[in-house]
Amino acid sequence: MRVQFLQEWSTALKEFVGLPRPFAKYKKGIGPHNLPSRTPIPWQSIPDTKAGNLRLFQRHEDNVYKDRVCAYCGIVFEFNEEAIRWTTIDKPLTKNGQRVFSDVHPFHFECMRQARIYCPHMKRTTDDEFETGPYAQLRENADAQIAPYMIN
Ligand SMILES: [Zn+2]
Repeated sequence: MRVQFLQEWSTALKEFVGLPRPFAKYKKGIGPHNLPSRTPIPWQSIPDTKAGNLRLFQRHEDNVYKDRVCAYCGIVFEFNEEAIRWTTIDKPLTKNGQRVFSDVHPFHFECMRQARIYCPHMKRTTDDEFETGPYAQLRENADAQIAPYMIN
């Protein structure tokens, strides 16, 4: 199945929740990741098309654990809802660095599928780097995994 898009991203869509995601247009050869010409913008990100990159939307990033929402679409999870989570941290988790806390929080299956197509890091992952199960269980595992990094 292909990925569908909402309209082109603008600041008016910063708070847009759900799928399909708005997209940003990237020019070939600009930025570190060579992002596709139409790239969906996750709920906890803001496009920087001049830099050829995405930046963290810190308020949304902070809301992921607080409000138990999917970082990709912004929708709140039910505790018994089936979800998927990336488990293999390759760099330290920080509030706003290369790997952030929401990276190991549960996603919806479709949201993770899209992230694994477009995200420069997630597209290099393999199927055995993920676990699936009810949100409540995956959230417990995520909380345990981020605890050592929650120093500040
Ligand atoms: Zn989602």
